[in-house]
Amino acid sequence: MNFLMFGAPMAGKGTLANILAEKYNLPTISMGELLRNTTNPEVKEYQARGEMVPMQIVLDVIKERLTQEDVQNGYILDGFPRTPEQLTEFVEQKIANIDVVVDLEVPYERLLERVTGRRTCKQCGYIYNTSWNLGYEQCPKCGGEWGIRSDDNEETYKKRYEVYLNETLPILEYFKNEGK
Ligand code: AMP
Repeated sequence: MNFLMFGAPMAGKGTLANILAEKYNLPTISMGELLRNTTNPEVKEYQARGEMVPMQIVLDVIKERLTQEDVQNGYILDGFPRTPEQLTEFVEQKIANIDVVVDLEVPYERLLERVTGRRTCKQCGYIYNTSWNLGYEQCPKCGGEWGIRSDDNEETYKKRYEVYLNETLPILEYFKNEGK
């Protein structure tokens, strides 16, 4: 079964993807994470500004990831497709077969509250938020050190949210029409 996580940045896609991954024993594919792990300095600049990374880079990275062995029996995809242009390529090139779309709707005020509290494990990618008040000084999964993403600040968040409204939200219609 292939899931697609949908929703604004900070809606909880990554957190819920991790829960689903454990429940269904499936790997997660986070487009943002794949891009953060590339060595291309240009990609990091786009990410730090909260802007979309150029499409050809995104397509190359996701297509390569989808050929790997561990995703052949299903996966939880987070962050692709994210623009109408990417959706066109997604459909025309038959990049992935999505069975279920999970759409998380969260009020803007709550999203903004979460931005400054997100911590991401530098080792395993586990996501924690200090607003959960669990007092984790380090990752509870692997003991790794917490990192703070360069784009997790209020100023960049406003840009990311705007990009979500203008470019990402419109493509939800396609998946609704497909009955996903
Ligand atoms: P995320 O980890 O999903 O919040 O994504 C972080 C950043 O990665 C975004 O603000 C974009 O700069 C970049 N990014 C993630 N997914 C895509 C995508 N499908 N297309 C272009 N850029 C992306």
